[in-house]
Amino acid sequence: MKRLPEWVLTGLLLWPLISWAQTEVPQHKKLESATILEFREPFKEMVIYIEKEEDTRHSRITILDTTLFVRKSAFNKKIKSIKPDEKMMAGDFRPGMKINLWVNYKQISQINNAERISLDETYYGPTTIVGIYEKLEGERAIIDGQAVVLQLEKGRIIEGMEEWKGKKFTSFNDMQLGAEVRVNGERKPDGVVYASRGTMRPTEMGKDDYLLRKATDNELRVTRSTLNIADTWKFRLISNNQLEDYVSSVGRRLIPEYLKTLPIDHPDRVAFKFFLVDEGSFNASSYPNGAVVVHSGLLKKIDNEAQLAAILGHEIAHVTQKHHARQFRNHKNWEAVKTFGVLASAVQGSITPMLVTAVAAEMSVGGFSQKQETQADRIGLHYMVNAGYDPREAVAIWKRLSEEDKDDRQKGQQAAALNWIQKSYKGTPAGGPSAGEAPSRAVSNEPAADQPLFPAHPSPRDRYTHVNFLISTTYGGLKMDGMRTEGTKFQAMVGLLRGETRGPVTDPRKSPKPPKPKPTTGTTKPKPPKK
Ligand SMILES: [Zn+2]
Repeated sequence: MKRLPEWVLTGLLLWPLISWAQTEVPQHKKLESATILEFREPFKEMVIYIEKEEDTRHSRITILDTTLFVRKSAFNKKIKSIKPDEKMMAGDFRPGMKINLWVNYKQISQINNAERISLDETYYGPTTIVGIYEKLEGERAIIDGQAVVLQLEKGRIIEGMEEWKGKKFTSFNDMQLGAEVRVNGERKPDGVVYASRGTMRPTEMGKDDYLLRKATDNELRVTRSTLNIADTWKFRLISNNQLEDYVSSVGRRLIPEYLKTLPIDHPDRVAFKFFLVDEGSFNASSYPNGAVVVHSGLLKKIDNEAQLAAILGHEIAHVTQKHHARQFRNHKNWEAVKTFGVLASAVQGSITPMLVTAVAAEMSVGGFSQKQETQADRIGLHYMVNAGYDPREAVAIWKRLSEEDKDDRQKGQQAAALNWIQKSYKGTPAGGPSAGEAPSRAVSNEPAADQPLFPAHPSPRDRYTHVNFLISTTYGGLKMDGMRTEGTKFQAMVGLLRGETRGPVTDPRKSPKPPKPKPTTGTTKPKPPKK
């Protein structure tokens, strides 16, 4: 019997595919400004979740052998004209990065096959980092929460400034922890910045920082059962020694080494104090003098000690980076405050409550800037890792918050904001924020008017992707599985806390959720792609 010709066989084999293709016409689609949430194994056909700007739903993107990873400059080029140096490796793309992509979208089977993916921002290449030199591990320094390695070319140095003027530094070993270091270098795909030169100067302790610290020291009064801030904001303290010690011990573990070792009278030294107060909202806040206030509602909402460390680390970072004074200088009442002579009186030791009230109001209503929040997240993450906590728990907090019903959260925040504003602006002296403008700000459309943990920007989702990015880059080499989470110990403390809190919980999100399984950077629940 004669064999069937080859093309017939091929045709028979391909028939199901051909008929499928008749109903399934792939659409060539261009997507911009997506964020990689995660990569899934196996890598031969990776799946990326992306978030479109106008749509918070995730999309699954299938990576094929033929998918091209390119630099942004090659995104719209014809394949033939893409130069070799415009091509990238799949491994250069990490969770948390923003991308643009071309896909072949099949509507019926809902498959997004990636044709081409490019990085939307410059993640690699020349960069400058300015920040506090926090730690040295081997040859890797942590500056501004980022990993830096010195690769000084011939003749290049780190130049000393001010009291180190004229001195030249060639290794991090000779440099002082806690100094402000600026380095120029190149960021490589391992997330490390390889610095070829830079400068080192002592950190600056401004007059404003000093005044704010003195003011908060004076205006923060602690009695056996209350924490009173500038006679305006009163909290009931949770007075249980075990709980107080617990929160303080977690907080103290996070304080950077360079601050702990400063002499007691050094101007940069901060005496951190941690307060646990009976407040149902999911919140924590910090003050310029190192006071960190944790609401009981926050403790009830999180799963373990590592998550508490993430939040305390963030608040400590606001203090170490002197964000309060920086932000306060931008306050539109700053001039008014000065005009009314508050600062003059502060110098002489008699500080009016208004100064602190205004700071607290500014921090709580306007919040810190997006840049400051991102920096506090980044440096807080370093404090957390440095203390041995699993940094993936920080991701878990923001991830959960970003997945929660946004309307619910916004309603809760606006109610809380209004409540707080009414409390804080009652009887504010002239020169402080006027009573007329405050409520209108509080009920504005900005999603998070009241809470330092939820500033208007960045959103929990942005914070999730940023922290996720750091974990996949700066901490990419860290073995996280053995790191501390301390769930059992934490839950025992929450049990104690439930007996200590009184009154109705005001947080609209009070329903406790069962602890979720330990998250990794790759556990986003898939949602159907956009139809
Ligand atoms: Zn913050």
